[in-house]
Amino acid sequence: MIGVFGGTFDPVHFGHLRPALDVKQALALREMRLIPAFQPPHRATPVANPGQRLTMLRAAVGTEPDLLVDNREMMREGESFMADTLSSLRKDLGDEPLCLVLGMDAFLTLDSWHRWKEILQLAHIVVTHRPGWELDISVASAGIQQLWRECHTMASTDLQAQPAGKIFLQKVTSLDISATDIRTLVEAGKSARFLVPDPVWNLIRLHGLYRFSALGVRTASS
Ligand code: ATP
Repeated sequence: MIGVFGGTFDPVHFGHLRPALDVKQALALREMRLIPAFQPPHRATPVANPGQRLTMLRAAVGTEPDLLVDNREMMREGESFMADTLSSLRKDLGDEPLCLVLGMDAFLTLDSWHRWKEILQLAHIVVTHRPGWELDISVASAGIQQLWRECHTMASTDLQAQPAGKIFLQKVTSLDISATDIRTLVEAGKSARFLVPDPVWNLIRLHGLYRFSALGVRTASS
């Protein structure tokens, strides 16, 4: 069984890395792949360009054997729809169970995603806790509530038993870090050290990333 953790990673931070590793270990996944979006749908263009975000992610993972960087959305270019990414992974994996890892915030917006109903035909969804986004399924949209009722399982062994189709809630290390807060700090001339791995912080400084992001002046073009 493998896991995929998608994100904009603008920049990658410990709130991505530790939960990804927690899920890999808790579910005894064969692999955990981090997949940076080339062009994330439904949000503003990232501040760092795709190459910079990929370079930061690779620097963050370094030689960590439990995490892999998968650059298929970067290679595909265009809008990075998760349904396309999971279809391409499914072709590679055959019937091996596949888990899409989503923070609670991302899960609660799932019904706004392109071809979202196909996602559970292609993968399981592992929802992780994120500070500030506690689970209250009663506030979710009707579509998400129905999906939860039909597919939620409390048994992680159910994920191994079929290639896709289940939703499982996984507790992970609670780290109240967001890329938005990091960009705001850097823009204010402050340090983001200890929120991101040192190699990422060094790249941010080396390339002068995020210094002018909220002023509408892009620090880099894509
Ligand atoms: P931004 O602030 O730019 O929106 P972000 O920090 O939320 O960025 P993303 O790249 O948008 O990061 O998130 C990718 C995935 O990582 C999502 O599933 C999100 O829920 C999850 N995630 C991000 N930060 C955390 C965190 N601190 N704890 C747990 N999950 C997180």
